[in-house]
Amino acid sequence: MTAPQNTGRLDAGPIDTGPLDAGRLGAGPLAAGAHAGLADPQDALRRLEALALSWELQARPLAPSGLALAGEGWSVDIHPAPGGLSLAAEAGDEAILRGLKEMTEAMLAGLSPEAAERLRWSDGARPGAPAADFREWTWIGRRNVLPGLDRLVFACPDAARYAAAPMHVRLLVPPCDGAAAEWPRQKANGGIAWPSGEAALATRVYTVRRADPVRGEIEVDAVVHGDDLLAGWAARARPGWRLGVLGPSGAPPPADGPLLAAADLSALPALARILAADPAREGLALAAAPPEAARYLAPPLGVTLRLAPPETGAEALADLFLEAAETALPACSAPARWWFAAEAAGVRRVRARLDALNVDRARRDCVAYWRA
Ligand SMILES: Cc1cc2nc3c(=O)[nH]c(=O)nc-3n(C[C@H](O)[C@H](O)[C@H](O)COP(=O)(O)OP(=O)(O)OC[C@H]3O[C@@H](n4cnc5c(N)ncnc54)[C@H](O)[C@@H]3O)c2cc1C
Repeated sequence: MTAPQNTGRLDAGPIDTGPLDAGRLGAGPLAAGAHAGLADPQDALRRLEALALSWELQARPLAPSGLALAGEGWSVDIHPAPGGLSLAAEAGDEAILRGLKEMTEAMLAGLSPEAAERLRWSDGARPGAPAADFREWTWIGRRNVLPGLDRLVFACPDAARYAAAPMHVRLLVPPCDGAAAEWPRQKANGGIAWPSGEAALATRVYTVRRADPVRGEIEVDAVVHGDDLLAGWAARARPGWRLGVLGPSGAPPPADGPLLAAADLSALPALARILAADPAREGLALAAAPPEAARYLAPPLGVTLRLAPPETGAEALADLFLEAAETALPACSAPARWWFAAEAAGVRRVRARLDALNVDRARRDCVAYWRA
């Protein structure tokens, strides 16, 4: 976790938004503690703070002499303790907790590789075992759902785990077609050993469009744009091939207040899940997508759907969204919930405008889904 990954939150640095056993998903924060053995705890704290700031993590002092690192859905409290530092990590889901441990290991390694190596977390680790939120999905097949968007279907006996929020996963695409891949393994210190060299995995974040626990199936809708890794893998895949999966993780669908949302094709699956989450939702949704997207998105009656041509650029989509949302704003019956997910340039434009409008950061998600 270079800094917890994707979604501008834990999946985006060390995610992206990325997760636990199914029984604990959504059951409240997960916690783990550890002691890092360091000769000069005060100096280590100062260096950790500087490192956190350089990673653009939020850091604030903790009384009496500690440091708190925090982001959406996670925190790490650090206090001087005899012979080192005491660490207390809390996370909204298993993927985030894993990411926090990876991040902590990486930060400590910068101070003292030995301290990082000796780190042990209170919730235990099974060295050599798969990461706690790791699963394999088995390829079933694909079909087209919209121009430019293909549905990839996987078998997963544990599908219930992906049926509720959070809605994103990190797919691990192996270098070897169809053969047994090497997957990430837990290290004793809470870090993750990633396959390297010829066994290195390519990873991409996607939204689970639908999980069917009865059939044991997962659907992911992927943009097909030419040189994409996943569609390329899917084009070669034969039934029985496997992908690795970490997660789910990231933000739950924004649930509170009238919705002001916009998406490009890559964020259409997430927008569809947000719209499906609350049939009584009011608001506005804009999508740069073909006309068939109206059926795909199936917005609730209270949400006005507008479609822009699929080829609309990210900045043009941002401008269309801001104009429509600001027009709709006065009619909102409660503080609005803003959600914009598309290519990075559009996201920058929306963020800047929402800053200028002083929109509370807790009431907005502006997430770069890809970069041109
Ligand atoms: C939280 C989250 C959820 C996401 N959910 C989905 C999802 O459900 N479905 C989905 O399709 N994507 C989704 N994405 C976006 C997806 O992760 C990126 O598009 C990813 O980079 C795709 O990898 P790639 O191998 O296709 O392209 P990359 O290896 O990232 O890039 C290769 C080339 O393809 C271009 N490119 C990448 N993505 C696109 C695109 N969408 N359209 C046009 N050109 C592109 C790049 O600019 C680059 O030139 C999500 C991203 C995030 C952060």
